[in-house]
Amino acid sequence: MIRKILVANRGEIAVRIIRSCRESGIRSVAIYSEPDRTSMHVRYADEAWLVGPGPSGQSYLNIPKILEIAKKSEVDAIHPGYGFLSENAEFAEKVRQAGLIFIGPEAEAIRTMGDKMKARELMIKAGVPVVPGSDKLSDDDEENQKIAEKTGYPIMIKASAGGGGKGMRFVESKEELNDAIKRAKSEALNAFGDDAVYIEKYLKSPHHIEVQILGDEHGNVVHLFERECSVQRRHQKVVEETPSPFITEEVRKAMTDRAVAAAASVKYAGAGTVEFLVDADMNFYFLEMNTRLQVEHPITERTTGVDLVKAQIRIANGEPLAFKQQDIRKLGHAIECRIYAEDPDNNFMPGAGRVLHITEPLGLGVRTDGYIYEGYDITVFYDPMISKLIIWAQNREEAVERMKRALYEYKITGVKTNIQFLERIMNTPEFREGKYDTHFIANNEDYLL
Ligand code: ADP
Repeated sequence: MIRKILVANRGEIAVRIIRSCRESGIRSVAIYSEPDRTSMHVRYADEAWLVGPGPSGQSYLNIPKILEIAKKSEVDAIHPGYGFLSENAEFAEKVRQAGLIFIGPEAEAIRTMGDKMKARELMIKAGVPVVPGSDKLSDDDEENQKIAEKTGYPIMIKASAGGGGKGMRFVESKEELNDAIKRAKSEALNAFGDDAVYIEKYLKSPHHIEVQILGDEHGNVVHLFERECSVQRRHQKVVEETPSPFITEEVRKAMTDRAVAAAASVKYAGAGTVEFLVDADMNFYFLEMNTRLQVEHPITERTTGVDLVKAQIRIANGEPLAFKQQDIRKLGHAIECRIYAEDPDNNFMPGAGRVLHITEPLGLGVRTDGYIYEGYDITVFYDPMISKLIIWAQNREEAVERMKRALYEYKITGVKTNIQFLERIMNTPEFREGKYDTHFIANNEDYLL
């Protein structure tokens, strides 16, 4: 049984995990880098240990040091959060080799799903539709031309090891192809240490819709419905909502069914997310599977009432899921806005500095997952996301109005934020009507910026 957890992360997600630990009577251990000394996760945890200097490589990615702290603080388990080491199969292995519980799936599942080409192969076997495309590309220009021709332009070249919106290239015509492949390969090698790239058909007006999955060690897999994540800037999510305003009940049924099949095919134990692209005709295609908690998990928690961190801990304990598929209900509508310390008027430049004042919104249906406070110094070392504003209401229309009200109440001074940008998103006709795809922000830049 897990009695004490080391949270190998920082910021809002560390705070989020520590909250569920406290509610479960589990002691929590925070790790922190030097600039994070005064961070909220340090205050909320039962213990806090210095892990190293600011740069992630020397702190939140420092595996030997984290394992050393785990040993000294006598924890039973490590929760990786998202980002940092959460999808590092080697870390999961080392945690288990040290006799500790890794709160996440088997290293093998992390490894397979982290390799986009391998994951595609697996999905095809499991009967899950994938975006039409190729296997690993060779250096044979002519051969590659043929493959691209067969897929049909425009196409995307993707790094198999890619993630976080990196390692993707859009190719419109055959003249650009060979050069683009060469660049993509060298980029991929630089960023991920692996130059494997493949071709995917470029879907024209796609939606990004993902399904939340929970699987246990006893072979049970359930879904907790979908999240619509099509409000994106440079392939990065900005606003998410559930249910999706786009898909029909029939498509929802088919997608969640395939997502469960996908997870079951790898005997998935843990929380995971199966991401799909959905085209204008509502055909859906597997994009990738994330083997960790997602940033946007709270909207699912809000509509289903399930605490996903507690579910993860329960699974890691080897217990069966606390519910069956038919017990999982969704109620109302939830929207999340990601609050970033960045300046939309200056090309979204990440900002750092002291928070002079902060008033977070409250009231019916409002949740904020954050970690900053008055006097806090935001550093440049980490992701500029400072908080997530999560709204619940009985229906979508009310949820949008409530989000606008909450954004209006949200006041942060001292650092630039994207709050007004988010307010404008809420006021854009396409968003209000729930008629938008992944090009929404790019198409509305005149109004939004
Ligand atoms: P990453 O793992 O880097 O986040 P994904 O493969 O999940 O990359 O894709 C991120 C986003 O890029 C998607 O949500 C979508 O907006 C866009 N995208 C990816 N593949 C395609 C494609 N084949 N056609 C159109 N858009 C795509």
